[in-house]
Amino acid sequence: MKLLPPPNPNTTSFHYHGGGAANNINQLDHHCCPVKKNKVMPLLQHFFSSPSILPCKKNTNKNQNFIIKWAPRMDSITTIIARPTSDAAADLLLLRHHYRKNQRLAAQKEKLIVIMGATGAGKTKLSIELAKRFNGEIINSDKMQVYKGLDITTNKAPINERGNINHHLLGDFDPELGELTRSDFRRLTWSKVKEIESRNKVPFLVGGSTSFVHASLTDRFNPATNVFDRSNSSNSVSSELRYDCCFLWVDVSFNVLCEYLRKRVDEMMDSGMVEELAEYYASGSLSRHPGLRNAIGVPEFYDYFNSKGYDSVDEGTLYEDAVNDIKDNTCRLAKRQIEKILRLKTAGGWGLQRLDATSSFRKVLTSYENEKEDWREIWTRQVVEPSFKTVKKFLEEE
Ligand code: ATP
Repeated sequence: MKLLPPPNPNTTSFHYHGGGAANNINQLDHHCCPVKKNKVMPLLQHFFSSPSILPCKKNTNKNQNFIIKWAPRMDSITTIIARPTSDAAADLLLLRHHYRKNQRLAAQKEKLIVIMGATGAGKTKLSIELAKRFNGEIINSDKMQVYKGLDITTNKAPINERGNINHHLLGDFDPELGELTRSDFRRLTWSKVKEIESRNKVPFLVGGSTSFVHASLTDRFNPATNVFDRSNSSNSVSSELRYDCCFLWVDVSFNVLCEYLRKRVDEMMDSGMVEELAEYYASGSLSRHPGLRNAIGVPEFYDYFNSKGYDSVDEGTLYEDAVNDIKDNTCRLAKRQIEKILRLKTAGGWGLQRLDATSSFRKVLTSYENEKEDWREIWTRQVVEPSFKTVKKFLEEE
């Protein structure tokens, strides 16, 4: 007869070989072999070091079968049995193992890798590299990228750059159905993490909306408060998290990042951003998209698309103004994002590991097309490899 662990920590009965499922004490009783109480009790006390183990009253006078009931606070297991005679010690070891495992499982939170950083810092690239190495799936936490549409404007990773990694909450929501709230996002992240775990994959939460990240990770979330509201210093950041998190923060020194972001806006224009926005305005989506219409690029081009065609309007100037505003607002966004991340780290004590990607960004900005490999080598050395080590260690920890 061999004891097996309960199928899940909340189970109330034990299964064991030879006797089928035991659904109540009597059944267990029936299948138990005799055991000497005075032999087992000291062992039990030694192994479990717990005063809460109580012999089942029903059996104490018989001095034979030994059934142990956990005290109510040890709520994961209600009844176990110990095997007698010479195998008692081995069985008790097994019991202790299962007991501890169940306790761990009951207390254990899901592991989650969280990749944060300002817009443009390279979170997407890093997340795909790590997800490939660790059998991961990615949950997007950029509040604009959750919506369908404006793929260039919101910088969604194109499908051919997603490395065959499953992405969730990325372009999934119809922007006409309303604005996704922090509470919605918290709920969705929870179910996505469970879903990914159930496939035995590693969940990664990746994105720049600090308010979404905070809402989904914090243990106690109050939708009525905004912990990043600078006018209300009493809104504290909780250090209690509902997942077991490994935080990676890809950081780039602000001036270097801003120079890069300005260049990136020009590249986005070249790759069709203005055409995408023209279509967006022409379709009348603006009034129907409470969330997506705030994406940087949409309001900045308002004057351009609404004045086009008027004689007195210098289209070229309006276009230039819009592009400059996008560049300024993108840099402002990056600055705010970095401030918020720092707040999580300092006020919330979140253990963010900072990965400094500045050198590789400097290289990108100063090198020519044929030198592209150089920045990749720096990026790998300074960002990917340390992240890889951190995640590996984190996943190996019990
Ligand atoms: P806030 O409370 O300021 O909205 P947050 O942490 O909830 O901050 P952020 O991700 O910092 O959200 O987004 C703030 C604003 O930045 C958005 O409302 C939007 O204007 C712009 N923004 C954010 N991400 C994108 C994106 N991918 N594309 C375009 N604009 C974006």
